[in-house]
Amino acid sequence: MAGERIAIVGGGLAGGLLATLLGRRGLEVTVYERRPDPRVAGAERGRSINLAVSARGLAALEAVGLRDLALERALPMHGRMVHPLGAADNFQPYSADGERAINSISRAELNQALLDAAEATPGVTLRFSRRVTGVDADAGLLLLEDADGGRATEHADVVLAGDGAYSAVRESVRPLEDRQDFLEHGYKELTIPPRDGAFALDPDALHIWPRGTSMMIALPNLDRSFTCTLFWEKSEFAALDTPARVTAHFERHYPDAAGLMPALTGDFARNPVGSLVTVRCWPWVRYGKGTIVALLGDAAHAIVPFFGQGANCAFEDCLEIDRCLDETGGDWARTLSLYQERRKANTDAIAEMALDNFVEMRDRVGSPVYRFTHAVQHALERRSAGRYVSRYELVSFSTMPYARIPARIRRQNAVVAAGLAGGAVLAGLAARAVTRRSRGGAR
Ligand code: FAD
Repeated sequence: MAGERIAIVGGGLAGGLLATLLGRRGLEVTVYERRPDPRVAGAERGRSINLAVSARGLAALEAVGLRDLALERALPMHGRMVHPLGAADNFQPYSADGERAINSISRAELNQALLDAAEATPGVTLRFSRRVTGVDADAGLLLLEDADGGRATEHADVVLAGDGAYSAVRESVRPLEDRQDFLEHGYKELTIPPRDGAFALDPDALHIWPRGTSMMIALPNLDRSFTCTLFWEKSEFAALDTPARVTAHFERHYPDAAGLMPALTGDFARNPVGSLVTVRCWPWVRYGKGTIVALLGDAAHAIVPFFGQGANCAFEDCLEIDRCLDETGGDWARTLSLYQERRKANTDAIAEMALDNFVEMRDRVGSPVYRFTHAVQHALERRSAGRYVSRYELVSFSTMPYARIPARIRRQNAVVAAGLAGGAVLAGLAARAVTRRSRGGAR
């Protein structure tokens, strides 16, 4: 293990965290990041501005001593504030006790804190403006391009690729399955600025405007603004091709928000429409003659953002690699084999739950039936001493492996259904007994 050259591709969320974890083990790690240093150059446009970080992400940040710093710079959101069209707003707490919150945090600040931590760790070198164009796994070489298009190669014994959903390294792994499934929907970010120096909406909530096939959400920022994200079919964005159409559309479909967005038409025209992709690929590891190459984070399993779990999940990958290094005594081949075997079922599970949650957010949360069910679930949770826990809580407020959650929910639902059916049978028997008794009384 000593003397091995470890390359991390991508100084994003996963890359920054993993570099710190590996540096702490005394490993020599070089991070290659295609962008200039964001701490000097500022954040890149077109990335989401803020993220919801929850239990899994916080557990990972704790491992590198960044949990408290992250929470100091975060805004807790204890529930969702639903803005139905033509009806009153309603607040739906995320946890049964109303105490638990997901945390809105600036992506740029989180990334910078992770890079600072990595840079301060002995053995870690950060190299910016270095795009990795591929890996020659048999020759043991990283293929690099600098900002001026100059090409170079560098040796690495292990390449850990956290270079995002559109990973350049993925192809070098030659996965047998390599699918990118795009939604018809894209996303665009807008801003609700502070109003008279204060938050224009309740900052303790993630705001949702469910509109059936599409939706808008808003997360609070420390500067008292909100970042709104539209999740619309791409054709819906394209249809709003004049400022007048944009204004009319918002006044009709988002009337309470339209008046809070003075820069709406300019932002709408200027800000890009991003794509929403699920990456399904396998295997994540290639054992070349000269290098082992492994994928992590979005490069291995990008998911749609509707459970707010992509970064949380990418952080869990880093913790798992670290754990496997402990278990194998630092044997990279065994570590990466264990890592991918353990993580795949989990990342598949959260990918499906994230897709499912899109329908929940854009459509179901607005309905009275949903609100009733949500309230019943929370009542059950409060009375069942941990035996009934909602899917949202298990995903966001626990570190239970994602793959175990769907089965657990099915079991709970079966017990509740049996209880309800039992209750109905008992009620039926009681009703019949009452009827018989009253008939007997008549005889
Ligand atoms: P990234 O963060 O994408 O980092 C990849 C890094 O690699 C970047 O720095 C990039 O510049 C660099 N890079 C790319 N190519 C190369 C190359 N060839 N050579 C060198 N460097 C390269 N997740 C949550 O947990 N909560 C949320 O609330 C949430 N909201 C989201 C909202 C939206 C609209 C979107 C799109 C995503 C959201 N996510 C959220 C998902 C989250 O952003 C990703 O899952 C997370 O960023 C993945 O981290 P990563 O390090 O794998 O990839």
